[in-house]
Amino acid sequence: MSSLKQSPYILYSDGNGHIFEDTTLYAVGRSGWDAIAIPKNEWIELPEGGSLYELPGRRGIGIDVKTGGMRLCEKGWAVAAFIPPAHTGFYIAAYETMDDAPTLPLFCYTAAGWLNNKFYVPATRIEQDIRQDCEGYDWVTINEGVDKFLQAYPHNRLVKHLAENCCLTYHCPAARNYFMGRWECPIPSSPACNANCIGCISFQPQEETITSTQDRLTFKPTAEEIVEFTVPHLESAPYPIVSFGQGCEGEPLLMWETIRDSIIEMRKHTPKGSININTNGSRPESVRILCEAGLDSIRVSTNSARKHIYEAYYRPNNYQFEDIVESLKVVNSFGGWTSINYFVFPGMTDSVEEYEALRKLISETNLKMIQWRNFNIDPDWYLGKLGIAETGACLGMKQLLELLRDEFPQLKFGYFNPSIERIKGNFEADFAHH
Ligand code: SF4
Repeated sequence: MSSLKQSPYILYSDGNGHIFEDTTLYAVGRSGWDAIAIPKNEWIELPEGGSLYELPGRRGIGIDVKTGGMRLCEKGWAVAAFIPPAHTGFYIAAYETMDDAPTLPLFCYTAAGWLNNKFYVPATRIEQDIRQDCEGYDWVTINEGVDKFLQAYPHNRLVKHLAENCCLTYHCPAARNYFMGRWECPIPSSPACNANCIGCISFQPQEETITSTQDRLTFKPTAEEIVEFTVPHLESAPYPIVSFGQGCEGEPLLMWETIRDSIIEMRKHTPKGSININTNGSRPESVRILCEAGLDSIRVSTNSARKHIYEAYYRPNNYQFEDIVESLKVVNSFGGWTSINYFVFPGMTDSVEEYEALRKLISETNLKMIQWRNFNIDPDWYLGKLGIAETGACLGMKQLLELLRDEFPQLKFGYFNPSIERIKGNFEADFAHH
């Protein structure tokens, strides 16, 4: 898309869900604690499936179209965008927070603006795979799939959980794909975790004012329950992937015996597809056992490639940053696919210090892929909890991506775990069917 001729105007809300543009102010972005102007060539139209949030207790910051100075929009509350999967945001929404403002829930808050009757966001489509594009979901097919699989597996607690909670309540994109019989199938397995992430999406302590976006699994599935529905998926779905480690559970590596037995049993029945684990990577010795059993790929989640930033956020029990690095090395040593699920926070992710640490992590682990995930967290709350008053010099997210592409041409960028066809075949293949 060509560069905009001018910056979009700032948006504000009346506090009752109505959003307006203020044509006396150009929209700006936020990086760390700083409000900064956004280059015109970094805006794209808000993609299909994106939504807008009003931010109570916050006043938007913009550039006065006449004076060029920065000032607050006093007309209403600030507005931010939740950009859809497969897109990575370059700047957070810029606003000033009032003293009594509530902590924002666990969503991402990308900058947003308005121009020529369209909403704009500073972002890029980082992943061409269409598996979570909202226009691809059809609830008639989904509901038929739910009925069919609940009848096919009447005693399977995990299929019941995926149907009633994940698909029909949380509208989880992965669960909906499973019930449409395609692509990546989720396998939550662990009710417990060995980390205490500040922004955990499946468990928030009582004393916190925000709630987790989904409830954590309450039972330990058996290998029989897991194998019963995953083998037919691997056998019949296009570009099949089955993934341990989902947003509605704790840490899957705490269930390594069950996962090991499941993988062994799956591979007795079918060689098809990719068996993946999304994990905090805390137990390299368990990862080695899963690789020996037949694990194809791993995705390790992290907010940073810096030990002190990682441990301040994950607050790990009995493991440390070096363990997650070791888990990536273990899978690499077995020839498996290695990704990081990298929580993007403009001002932190693109800081020079982080960039240097990330280069080291990529080289040290021979990393295959970075999944550039927008960090779903209240920016002030996150920086406050980590005690960060100053984020240091920054490169800008767009430049960070360009620098890494140049230095590591083999390294893949995306948002989703790739199918075995992409891992073993042409990674840049036609995505309409991947
Ligand atoms: S590793 Fe996952 S489940 Fe565990 S605390 Fe962090 S976000 Fe929550």
